[in-house]
Order: sequence, then C-alpha cells, then structure tokens
Amino acid sequence: MKLELDGQYLAIQAEARSLARAIEPLAVEADEMSEVHPGVLAALRESGLSTLMVPAEHGGRLERPDPLAICLVREALMATSAHADSLFALQGIGSYAITVAGTERQRADWLPRVAACEALPAFALTEPDSGSDLKSVATRLSAEGDGLLLEGSKSFISNAGAADFYVVFAREGDAYSMVLVPADAAGLSITATPELIAPHVLGEMRFEQVRLPPEARLGAAGQGLELVMATLGVFRVSVAGAAVGLAQAALDEAVRHTRTRIQFGRPLARLGPVAQMLADCWTEIEMARLLTYRAASMAVEDPATTLPHSSMAKLAASEMAGRVVDRCVQMMGRFGLIRNARIERLYRQARPMRIYEGASEVLRLGIAAELTRQSE
Ligand SMILES: Cc1cc2nc3c(=O)[nH]c(=O)nc-3n(C[C@H](O)[C@H](O)[C@H](O)COP(=O)(O)OP(=O)(O)OC[C@H]3O[C@@H](n4cnc5c(N)ncnc54)[C@H](O)[C@@H]3O)c2cc1C
Repeated sequence: MKLELDGQYLAIQAEARSLARAIEPLAVEADEMSEVHPGVLAALRESGLSTLMVPAEHGGRLERPDPLAICLVREALMATSAHADSLFALQGIGSYAITVAGTERQRADWLPRVAACEALPAFALTEPDSGSDLKSVATRLSAEGDGLLLEGSKSFISNAGAADFYVVFAREGDAYSMVLVPADAAGLSITATPELIAPHVLGEMRFEQVRLPPEARLGAAGQGLELVMATLGVFRVSVAGAAVGLAQAALDEAVRHTRTRIQFGRPLARLGPVAQMLADCWTEIEMARLLTYRAASMAVEDPATTLPHSSMAKLAASEMAGRVVDRCVQMMGRFGLIRNARIERLYRQARPMRIYEGASEVLRLGIAAELTRQSE
C-alpha cells in the first residue's frame, strides 16, 4: 500500500501553499469579517484553484472534483485563513449538485463561472427549526401553473448575501427536492446571521412566493436527499483536511513558543509535561492526517459508498483539532489568550468544525449503523 502523495497531488499541495502565503497578510482582517474579503477572493481567483471544483468539460482542471486534491487545498488554506478555506470549499459544496444533476444549460451557465471564481454558490439546507434532522425542513417547493413556487426560510447559510446562486433543499409533497435559485429571484430576501465566535460569511434567507421556471429544478423531483448525500460523499472528508491544517498551524505556533520561552532555567519544550503535550499533539495530527488522506483516496474512487470513512475522518480530525488547539493554548500560557493572536484565532475557529457538516454525535450514529450493517 502506498502512503505517499504522488506528483499530481504534490503539485496541487504546492499551489495551495503558495496561495496560503499570498493571503497570509490579509488573514487577520479577513477572518474577522462576516462579508467576503475582496482581496482574498481576488487571490483565490488568481490562483486558479477553484478549477478543482468542477469537471473538466465545464472549465475544471480534472475530469471531476477530486476529494483528495480538495482536502490538500483546504489543509493548506485553513492553516492560514478560515475565510479563504470557506470561500474555496463553498465553490465546490454549492455547485456539486449542478455537476451531478444539472441540465446542460445549468452546467454551462454556472460551472465555468464557478471554476473561474466569478460566481459564488451557496448550499442551503439548514432552517431555524431544522438542523441535524434534515428531513424536518419546512421550506416547500410546489408546482404552480407552468412553473415552481418556493416558500420558507433557511438559516446559517454560508455565502448567503454574497452568493450569485443558491442550491436549495426543500420538501416537495412527501419527498425532498433541490432547486437552483438565482440571487436576484423576486421574493428572496437575506439578512445577516448574528456574528459567531469565529466570524463567517453567513446569512438568513427568506423565500416569499418565489416563482421559478420548471428548469430551476436540480435533478428529478424527489432527488433532493440523494444530491445532499452525493455532495457530502465528495466534500465531508475535506472538513477533515481543514481540521488537520488548523491543528498543524496551532502546533507550529506552540513549538515556536515553547522552544524559546525559558522557565525554570530551560525552554518550556524541555519540561516533561510540556514535552508530553507536544508529542501527543504531533502524534494525533499524524494519525488524523493518515486517516483523512486514506478516506479521501477512497472517496476519489467511489464517493457514494465511502461516506462512512469520510465521516470517520471528519469525526476524528475535528475532535483532534479541538484537543490539539486547546493544549497549544495551554502551552503558550497567557500569550495564548491574546485577542487575534494566531493561536487565539485558531482556538475559536476549531470549535464550529465539530458542529457543521455533521455534528460529531450524529456522525457517530451513522458510523455505528454502517458497522453493524456490515456484520449482518
Ligand atoms: C460556520 C457554519 C457554517 C454553516 N454553513 C451552512 C451552510 O452553508 N448550509 C447549511 O445548510 N447549513 C450550514 N450551517 C448549519 C449547520 O449545518 C448546522 O449547524 C448543523 O447541521 C447542526 O445543526 P444545528 O446547529 O441546528 O444543531 P442541532 O441539530 O440542533 O443539534 C444540536 C446538538 O445536538 C446533538 N444532536 C443532534 N442530533 C442528534 C442525534 N440524532 N443524536 C445525538 N445527538 C444529536 C449534537 O450534539 C448537536 O451538536 C453552518 C453552521 C455553521 C456553524
């Protein structure tokens, strides 16, 4: 079994690291913003990395979006800027339903612009009264005359307010469907979500009698859940990539600090309990990185059937990032608490990763269900 990245992936990793270096001077400002940072968006556009998010036939770089390549980019970006990581990730998460189920027209209209980072997508599932329990959504899609009518609301939607189009999950009769809503649709209004501990471009969406043509539907009526699962199959593991990048950045900070700060006559890193924390952090990051790359490699082959492995990687890496960044703050003492110091930002940014794209407890349910299914 080969455990090293090969040439194509190493090249993509190098490009992502180069983009991360370019945006580093903007990161403190961008990561505290709840709107898109124009400089970070311009750098992402310039890098061409968003071409990884769409298939080659519509302006993409590879035959189809590749989970391992996306993981590597998120690992590099999250180590520098959560804002850049989120912008990059959304280009894929918000457009993948078009890639797999869009009409030729929808693909041609949107995917080349997504690849060029000229159009920003959003993926709207969550509602005020529906979070982990996706099937409890109240937003409704129904037939009206020759077209479709969308009514309801969405909450905590990344890119809402900045996006050019929204892929919206809604109840339709007894099933669930997906529909593509352009940002200028009449009846769509967006307000800001309250600011989070780690700011994020988020909005609350309201659909009041939003009338759409029949060709706004993504895939067939009733295909909504399948498209959500297809999207998670490719992108859930990339959250693990981002979590590994965050944890590594935290450890790098702690190593720099503990090598040079002298207490009790020697560097902190030479004091037993601190050395133990450093060793545990490195070991846990390496374990999560291996699991993540393996799950991502499996998802490259078959994203549909490897989702439990992606869930394991997301669970392990996001929980690991929480432990690691907490220890790193501890090792840095009072210097770890300074507002907007790198470690303090990482500490705040690690927290949402255990909640979005599947809370840890919900992931465990799915992983255990798969485990018991396999032994039937
Ligand atoms: C930064 C950020 C960005 C986001 N972006 C988007 C976006 O772009 N699009 C979108 O649609 N949504 C988005 N969300 C929303 C996100 O998907 C939800 O927060 C997530 O699905 C969890 O839902 P909830 O917060 O309503 O928690 P709830 O579902 O209310 O759950 C709360 C807690 O209860 C526990 N729990 C819930 N269900 C179970 C269960 N069955 N078994 C055991 N324990 C359980 C878990 O501990 C969970 O954390 C975003 C959220 C954040 C924080």
